Amino acid sequence: MARGRILSRSISHDSKFNKLEMREQWFFMRLLPFTDDHGRMNADLEEMHYQIFPAFKDFTPQKARRYLNKLEEVGMLKWKENVVIEFINFSKHQKIGHRKAKSEFPDINGNFDAEEEKEEQKEKVFKQGAGGNYIAYCSKCNKDLYYKTIYETKGKSSCCKAELSPTEITKENKDG
Ligand SMILES: [Zn+2]
Repeated sequence: MARGRILSRSISHDSKFNKLEMREQWFFMRLLPFTDDHGRMNADLEEMHYQIFPAFKDFTPQKARRYLNKLEEVGMLKWKENVVIEFINFSKHQKIGHRKAKSEFPDINGNFDAEEEKEEQKEKVFKQGAGGNYIAYCSKCNKDLYYKTIYETKGKSSCCKAELSPTEITKENKDG
């Protein structure tokens, strides 16, 4: 979990943000550091009190709901109680240098990152042969080639200067 988040200067001119009253803006800024790499956070309001507003004895779920509904109304976030709070346009302001950590929260519809899982599957995994060499297939002529390092498999095939694939090219793959 990141230690915090960037509060961009552009927020001063953000028309949505400026529709909010000061207390609502304050509430938003208190939440921001607790978002994950996907701009999501816990929507359990008891836990919110404990984690984000520990010093506020007069924090109530009712108040939190009121603020959250207002933030949703102006388009700063979407939320569903006990499912997720999801900030809108989060990636516009946050530079995540590392590969985004998988969110422990679902999206607003309750779905867990189907998109990212698909991306992960797309990532090429080259098998290693008995000698430890990586086995790659030329995506053009389907010739099997062997490379000492995984780095080389990111290059082009020696035969056709085509992309390398971790699997043989079947007709299906070619057409797809
Ligand atoms: Zn080839």
